[in-house]
Amino acid sequence: MLEADFIIVGAGSSGCVLADKLSANGKHSVLVLEAGGTDLRFWVQVPLGYGKTFYDKAINWAYLTEPDPGLNGQQDYWPRGKILGGSSSINAMVYIRGNEQDFKGWEKAAGKGWSWREVRRLYEELESGPLKITNPSHDLHPLCTAYLEAAQQAGIPFNEDFNGQTQEGVGHYRTTIHGRRRLSAARAFLRPAMKRPNLRVVTNALATGLEFNGKRVTGVNFTQNGKPMQARARHEVILSAGSVNTPQLLMLSGIGPAKHLKSVGIDVKLDNKHVGQNLEDHLGVNYIYRAKVPSLNNELRPWWGKLLVGLRYVLFGKGPLASSLNQGGGFVRTDKKRKSPNIQLYMQAISTLKPKAGERPLLTPDEFPGFALGLSSCRTESRGFIELRDANPQTPPRIVGNAYSTKNDIAEVLAGVKLIRKIAAQPALKNVIAEELRPGPQVKSDAALIDDLRTRSGTVYHPACTARMGKSKADSVVNPRLQVHGLKGLRIADASVFPNNITGNTNGPCMMLGARAAEIILEDYAENKSS
Ligand SMILES: Cc1cc2nc3c(=O)[nH]c(=O)nc-3n(C[C@H](O)[C@H](O)[C@H](O)COP(=O)(O)OP(=O)(O)OC[C@H]3O[C@@H](n4cnc5c(N)ncnc54)[C@H](O)[C@@H]3O)c2cc1C
Repeated sequence: MLEADFIIVGAGSSGCVLADKLSANGKHSVLVLEAGGTDLRFWVQVPLGYGKTFYDKAINWAYLTEPDPGLNGQQDYWPRGKILGGSSSINAMVYIRGNEQDFKGWEKAAGKGWSWREVRRLYEELESGPLKITNPSHDLHPLCTAYLEAAQQAGIPFNEDFNGQTQEGVGHYRTTIHGRRRLSAARAFLRPAMKRPNLRVVTNALATGLEFNGKRVTGVNFTQNGKPMQARARHEVILSAGSVNTPQLLMLSGIGPAKHLKSVGIDVKLDNKHVGQNLEDHLGVNYIYRAKVPSLNNELRPWWGKLLVGLRYVLFGKGPLASSLNQGGGFVRTDKKRKSPNIQLYMQAISTLKPKAGERPLLTPDEFPGFALGLSSCRTESRGFIELRDANPQTPPRIVGNAYSTKNDIAEVLAGVKLIRKIAAQPALKNVIAEELRPGPQVKSDAALIDDLRTRSGTVYHPACTARMGKSKADSVVNPRLQVHGLKGLRIADASVFPNNITGNTNGPCMMLGARAAEIILEDYAENKSS
């Protein structure tokens, strides 16, 4: 039996920051249980290694959704990190804070403590601490520069920093890469904190359920390498298992929609119909072009190119291996009446038409020069949900994405792909494009474009809101202090508590949330209050 003041389940983006900040003053003992293993793996540390880790089941939960009518009946692939650092160890490293309108939604749902002003303070604290954000503006591929010029020719203003005064416009992304290595939440926060005697991290520890004493959560049952174990929390358990596994663990522990729990043979501890519901995600698609000029394909595809890229990385820590492929992009409003962007843009100076068994072929792109112009939705109306298939903690949960299930969601991406074509038609890009390969110029009518969107879109890996935060059990799972309504000793801190998703990539907001969670918990225990 392990014992600590606080037990954190999951060492992902939120969990790593929380573990660091809760253990920093040395007053509390903290135990982290992580289902995955060490992040000290070559393709995790090398930034472009995310192509290799994309399907690697040793470090990835590798979920599949149910067949989705919105995706023409296809199942969508959902990678999630199962490793120290969680999804921040396998993600594409784009760093985005979100915008004022996103957090107006949070403030409306959960009060002043989650206002734009408060979260900006937290971002500034993180970014002036261990979270080093890289600005790769000096290292842009010429095709990326051409894209930025074309977008401006299409009327979109240049934005030097999406995390600055305004999010809107086109520009280059900043990244969570430091030196030559990925700066995951584990590298930035957890690993330095692991030197403290009051923080213990147990890996390969799969939490299987919560222990209760009446309405108080007192500990966690877990298995380590198949062996059943228990950990007791003197103060609290905090779930940071991510937006798929946190609702799964709640339901396995009897917290969730009563009818559903009974249908899979689980005793109901607390009926809450919002657990696993309100799933909000971002969906994206790429338009792919053959280029008349060299792209990263020319550097990464031939064996001698790989050799040069490898040498450049080893000798100087630079080049494609040291970067995210999402160099350029932006945030636009397809409807000027909106207060904030509804479409995110991406530009990658690489094309990968042919899949490669077991990996995303980022390191073996097409044999001809090519590039991709992509987009994703920002604030969708479609809502999916997560349910259990049975009472076995090893069984992957049922993920129902409900992609593009409202007229508005499909109309937004339709306007977005028309904008991509408008950008591609501007002189700066037109002159370097040989042809549009996907979907191809024959796909023209709205009906054909929508059919293509439904066939080729997929998640861009930002699911959130499945145990959302709000003021009462009538609308949410946790209160503004992240405590599960109706229980003592249990909080949640990860993407599942977002009241609404944010505009852009979700790693930054998850780390910010981990920092806020630590502040709240430390405040509560400094006042000797128990939850
Ligand atoms: C392929 C990919 C690309 C992405 N690209 C970007 C990007 O470029 N920029 C960006 O900002 N965001 C990106 N994201 C999204 C971002 O990384 C996630 O939103 C964020 O990391 C989620 O943080 P989290 O703390 O909610 O969960 P996670 O980081 O997923 O952490 C959850 C942790 O809990 C552990 N866990 C789960 N269940 C259990 C259990 N039962 N017992 C013990 N441990 C458990 C998991 O193994 C994991 O380590 C990407 C995500 C993916 C998958």
